[in-house]
Amino acid sequence: MSSLYDTLGVSKGASADEIKKAYRKLAREYHPDRNPGDLSAEDKFKEVQHAYDVLSDDEKRKAYDRFGAQNGRPGAGPQNVNFGDFNIGDLGDLFGGLFGGGGRAQQQRRQPVRGADVEAEVRLSFEDSLRGAEAKVPVELTVACRTCGGTGAEPGTAPVICPECNGRGVKAESQGLFALSQPCPRCRGNGTVIEQPCTSCKGSGRERRIKTYTVKIKPGVKDGTRIRLKGKGEAGANGGPAGDLVVLAHVDASPTYERRGDDLVVNVPLSYATAVLGGKVEVPTPEGVVSLKIPAGSEDGKLLRIKGRGAPRINGSGKGDVLARVRIEVPKRVNKKERELLEQLQKSSG
Ligand code: ZN
Repeated sequence: MSSLYDTLGVSKGASADEIKKAYRKLAREYHPDRNPGDLSAEDKFKEVQHAYDVLSDDEKRKAYDRFGAQNGRPGAGPQNVNFGDFNIGDLGDLFGGLFGGGGRAQQQRRQPVRGADVEAEVRLSFEDSLRGAEAKVPVELTVACRTCGGTGAEPGTAPVICPECNGRGVKAESQGLFALSQPCPRCRGNGTVIEQPCTSCKGSGRERRIKTYTVKIKPGVKDGTRIRLKGKGEAGANGGPAGDLVVLAHVDASPTYERRGDDLVVNVPLSYATAVLGGKVEVPTPEGVVSLKIPAGSEDGKLLRIKGRGAPRINGSGKGDVLARVRIEVPKRVNKKERELLEQLQKSSG
């Protein structure tokens, strides 16, 4: 069972100075400004803050030592004191010194958040997958409301400073031993309130809109490839970066070729005679027909390589090969002449 002391990596008898040192080190390490978008770092940061809040306060530390913790969470004291809420004041001072920013409440409110990734799909013909293509990809995104410009306030009006918290975004309440600070219930920590919400977005400041992106698809793309377009996803909040657009490419199957890595396998029908005696056949490739020499005694299924005529290598240069797969065809019907010849062959081979 981990205790608040464990969270800060100090012993139970640690001095106030040791606790402060450990806290500063961990808070720097896990601070959201240093780990944008990393939720586990954010959780850790909160745990560290919470641990420091309790252990740096003599009264709270005493109460904690006395009533203990369960599952790493603080236990409830005799008056149902919640250690999860803590005093903004000294943390604000500390962060002011450490990071040059404002108090914690302000930091939390303005913390940059990366926008979400958005997925889209595009369908390509097999030929286009080899040639490369430009696809128009419609994507539904949340953008700033066009009516109010994202403020959420009806045009002609503006958000006003929250009268409840005077724009601080937090309310301090004195409860027995501790001063508890909570997000202001009126403005939900924003510090401002909208008196006349925008009628288009009902005050959210956002709307869903379809944006169409042109996506360049490199020659040689395979079915199932994901193409990532940096910064084309949902917008970030509080100055955070936008998410990415991830485009999943579906490539139609080809009636002619079967893709194997960067190689293209194509079936080449051969008569029994050509398979035995050898000869020349025409083999289709993406850039036109190639004449291929068939060695005498080619068995059904044999693969013959035509170098450099396959799919473009998407992460490199050059192309794969075309692999001509020999398929010996057995005719369903034969004419009189063929029948005579085959009967002779049958007799001579016993
Ligand atoms: Zn609006």
